[in-house]
Amino acid sequence: LMFGKTRPCNFAAVPERGLAEVNVVLLGVTGCGKSALTVKFLTRRFISEYDPHLEDIYSSEEVVDQQPVVVKVMDTADQDGPVNSERYLTWASAFLVVYSIDDRKSFEGCQPYLQTASLQPETPVILLGNKLDMDRYRQVSKADGSALASRFGCLFFEVSACLDFLSVQRVFHEAVREARRE
Ligand code: GDP
Ligand code: MG
Repeated sequence: LMFGKTRPCNFAAVPERGLAEVNVVLLGVTGCGKSALTVKFLTRRFISEYDPHLEDIYSSEEVVDQQPVVVKVMDTADQDGPVNSERYLTWASAFLVVYSIDDRKSFEGCQPYLQTASLQPETPVILLGNKLDMDRYRQVSKADGSALASRFGCLFFEVSACLDFLSVQRVFHEAVREARRE
């Protein structure tokens, strides 16, 4: 049990009750659906047109496993691969690295982000194949996603920002659980 123990930590923590705040950073190439996933999680709605250059941090009060937590979401908007990663590397308590299952290039393009995230070995990473509703046009098999995730030792899910809210929420809540475990 962690009760009463303190340990070095780069995010706000209440040791007796787990993390009070979890900072989730979404990474991936332009167009993979980071903003759509963020908006879906925050509003339960799918917004199809979202400014691709807009980067911001949003906040949502959640209850995960009966414990309240403030989830801060940084929806990044890198234009050409990971640049200026200092802005989120130490801030993050979990990374969601996103690609689009109907776009092989986005899958190749997510790998530098996995490498960047692994510069923080204590910070959990979830690999996320988005646009599951585009299954008919799939260019990345589930097995390929799963294999990449095991290579980086991270969890793996496939979702769609335009289908049900609960499976998108589940991914963010899983990020909270992983961050709490660290
Ligand atoms: P970002 O650059 O990673 O923030 O990507 P956006 O969230 O702006 O999404 C890029 C494009 O993909 C937009 O036209 C979205 O409407 C579309 N999109 C995002 N998520 C999904 C999804 O789950 N399914 C489908 N079909 N389109 C999506
Ligand atoms: Mg965006």
